[in-house]
Amino acid sequence: MADRRLILAGCALLAAPALLQQAAAQPAPAMPLGQAPGFYRFRVGGWTVTMINDGFNRFPANTFVPGAPPAELRALMDEAFMAGDAITVPFTITFAQRGNTFLVFDAGNGVTAATATNGRMIANMAAAGVDPPAITHVMHSHFHGDHINGLLDATGGRAFPNAEIIVPGTEWAWFGDTANETRSPERQRPAFANTARRFAPYQGRVRQVGAGEVIPGVTAIDAPGHTPGHTVYRLSDGAEQLVFLADALNRPEITARRPDWYFVGDFDGSVAAVSRRRVLDMVATDRIRVTGYHYLFPANGYFARSGQGYAFVPAEWSSAL
Ligand SMILES: [Zn+2]
Repeated sequence: MADRRLILAGCALLAAPALLQQAAAQPAPAMPLGQAPGFYRFRVGGWTVTMINDGFNRFPANTFVPGAPPAELRALMDEAFMAGDAITVPFTITFAQRGNTFLVFDAGNGVTAATATNGRMIANMAAAGVDPPAITHVMHSHFHGDHINGLLDATGGRAFPNAEIIVPGTEWAWFGDTANETRSPERQRPAFANTARRFAPYQGRVRQVGAGEVIPGVTAIDAPGHTPGHTVYRLSDGAEQLVFLADALNRPEITARRPDWYFVGDFDGSVAAVSRRRVLDMVATDRIRVTGYHYLFPANGYFARSGQGYAFVPAEWSSAL
């Protein structure tokens, strides 16, 4: 009986091609273009970690990894399905909240330096329910613009009005002293004026730290080379831990596979490589979850030893916290 109805329905359609044409001409229902808000959450013990995307930039591959044999770089890019001659560098910022502490590691590109493809952090924070005045600590890895420009809001005031600003003392000493400008590689020199500008509204709120405990549950670890004071941070609660690797690696598909290469943003490539190998060895040996500033969203996972370097293994995406 059912078969007969189907056959009859089929015959009716065959007999009425005009009906089919009419159906095909129906416009698809309107779909809002754009992506879902760029945030993702997971827990580390009592910490709630929120990864918030700030967009991306693109750089020509051949100058981005100077010194890399071009054919070998191309092979790694192919392995990671990076098409074309440019490398995409995303920005994803790590926030963590536990009790009355709500910290963020670095500050994003901000709205004053936004381009067409970045400066999305504040909008994505709003989507995630993270209110800038709620931030109690901004903890800096280093002073490159993409990590400190977001300290300022659109009017040049404090984007994080209630936060204590934690900075590596070595980084503060280097970029706070203009006498070091001529001793820095050409590409690093704009960081001096930019550092003064971005920290200006936070006078009296900046605390310099060295390696060791910064606040309960957060430890600073020296990882110099990318800049003189580049620092990574361990977040912990009991036995649970996470390491924010900042710019110890840029895109791990390249710098984890070949830890001895350096990239154009590195202040001192050979020192950066030593730090990179040290932090990779630590997180691979202890199987510690990591976040990075320039990994593909949501920028968290693990490093496993592989060949002459390491492979990045993204953490499982979970709909449940
Ligand atoms: Zn960076």
